[in-house]
Formats: sequence, structure tokens, C-alpha cells
Amino acid sequence: MRALRCLLLLLGMGFAAAPGAVSAGPFEIAHRGASGYLPEHTLAAAAMAHALGAEFIEQDVVISSDGIPVVLHDVTLDATTDVADRFPGRARDDGKHYVVDFTLAELKSLEVRERFDPETGEPVFAGRYAGEGPVFRIATLDESLALVGGLNRSTGREAGVYPEIKSAAWHLAQGVDLSAAVLEVLARHGYGGKESLCYLQCFEYDEVKRLRDELGYRGRLVQLLSGGDKVDKGNTDNAFLRTPAGLRELARRVDGIGPPIGEIVGGDSPESRAIKPLVADAHAAGLEVHPYTLRADSLPRWASGYDDLVAVLAEAGIDGYFTDFPGLAK
Ligand code: CA
Repeated sequence: MRALRCLLLLLGMGFAAAPGAVSAGPFEIAHRGASGYLPEHTLAAAAMAHALGAEFIEQDVVISSDGIPVVLHDVTLDATTDVADRFPGRARDDGKHYVVDFTLAELKSLEVRERFDPETGEPVFAGRYAGEGPVFRIATLDESLALVGGLNRSTGREAGVYPEIKSAAWHLAQGVDLSAAVLEVLARHGYGGKESLCYLQCFEYDEVKRLRDELGYRGRLVQLLSGGDKVDKGNTDNAFLRTPAGLRELARRVDGIGPPIGEIVGGDSPESRAIKPLVADAHAAGLEVHPYTLRADSLPRWASGYDDLVAVLAEAGIDGYFTDFPGLAK
């Protein structure tokens, strides 16, 4: 893969994974849009990410009670909207308001806020967007993809999209096939083949298999991985899947992996900047590596600054990275 990229660069042909940029550095995936600057997953945050030059813009996807995929990180609404004020009595027994219990019209009536702690009302990231309005609304996946497509045409710079299927098994248990609904929207916008600028991502290995083997998705696919040795939902054996054998198994279905930064760089102490073998092992298996999440206001202890963080990850050989701050790296 990397040899191919070098050859294409020498021939003056851009590499497909880095649209519009014949640059040797890793590309940017705007994590929840330009979420360092505007409330996450709003259309404003997606537009700003495009303007800041992100090569890809992320959409986490959940679904309304009437079956419309919407762009939100959580399966609940409590940490990013005013749902508790607007819909008293609509929480489940655990006190939380679930997206899948609300129609799209109800979801559209909510105001989206900068992420906060529902217990205290305090912002999760103190220095981020603090404006009193304008009112931000929840976007559908369809709207977000339409926005990126429109900006691609009006700017002449083609950014890609990077949707994530959230809590697939949980949604199936609620009686809704989120992956099938997402694939339908992607296909309507022309995403579905390896040539289209779209990576579909999921943490659940069972769902990644289902996307390829049962639902027939043929586009780029990324297995997200957690740190540590826990076996996550969807029978995702993180420790095994990070081994050379696990990576070779993954490569039968996926194009890349999305591990946390700590699985790329780190060691026995939080100050360690040792480069781990994961990127080299993944590349040997033919997989790209897109770590998450770079935050200028929440750096690993080993990084002296945001540019240092990007530089060390680039030295480790990553292909792209999720960042809350697209456009910030010098
Ligand atoms: Ca995500």
C-alpha cells in the first residue's frame, strides 16, 4: 500500500485516500465535524471542517423512531440537547432519553448544545463553543451528506465522509437495522464502492462482518478498536485483533483500523513516546491506520503540543487521524 502510494506520488498522481492533497503526511478526519470549535455533529461544524480543509468529515449515526438515520454520537440525547426540558416524562427507567424513542420531527425541535455533563450542566471541554445561540439543530445523515456534496461542488475541493454505525447490536435489539438504513442513505449519495470517498466505521466486529458478508457493502470499511485487552460488544477481541494474525484476519474484510492514540505511541509511563509496532504490523497486513482522537485541549502527557502530537504520529507512519481541530496542524 505505501509502496503504491510512493509510486503514485512519483508519477504525480494523487493517492485516492488523500483527496485533493498530494501530500506525504497523514490526512485529517474531522471528528464530529470541527467539534473543537462548534457543537459536535451540527451542520455548522461539518461546514467549518470542510472550510478548514479536512480530507474527511465524520458522521456518527443513530436513528429516529420513524427510521431516519441522524448524526449524533450518543444513543441518548441528554448530554448534547435540551431534551430534559422539552420532553418531560419521555425518559426510560434509567432516566435517559433515547434517540430511538423520538420521531424525526421531535428530534428536529430540540436545541443542540455544546457537550455537557447532564448531572452538573458543566461543559465537558471548558474552553469550547460558549455562544448563547444561534440555535443549532440535529442533522439527518442525508442532510450532512448533501452538505458535503454541495460544498465539494461549490469549493471545487472534494472532501470525503466517514460515517460510524453506533451500537449496532443494541439497535438490532430495539428492532431496527441501523446498518441497512445507513447503507441505503450512502447509496443514494453515490457512496458504496472503494472509489468513493467514504470510509464506513464500526467498533463491533460482528457488525463489520455482517456489513461485508450479509449486507453486501463494498466500500471502504474500518474496524475501530479499543485500547487494552477487553473483549467489547460485537465479540470484538481487541487484544487479538491488534496482533499480526488478528490484523491479517481483519484484512479479509476491512481496509483499515481505527485504534486509540495510546496503541500507536506510549509505554510504561504516561510520558513515554515509544512507537509501538501496531502501524507497521497493520501496514504489513495491507491495512491503513487512522487513530483517534487528537485534541489540542486534551493532549497525551508525552506530547509537548498539538504539532508535536501530529509529528510523532506521522513519524509512526499513520495514514490519517481523527481530530477535533481540523486545519490546526502546521
Ligand atoms: Ca465516532
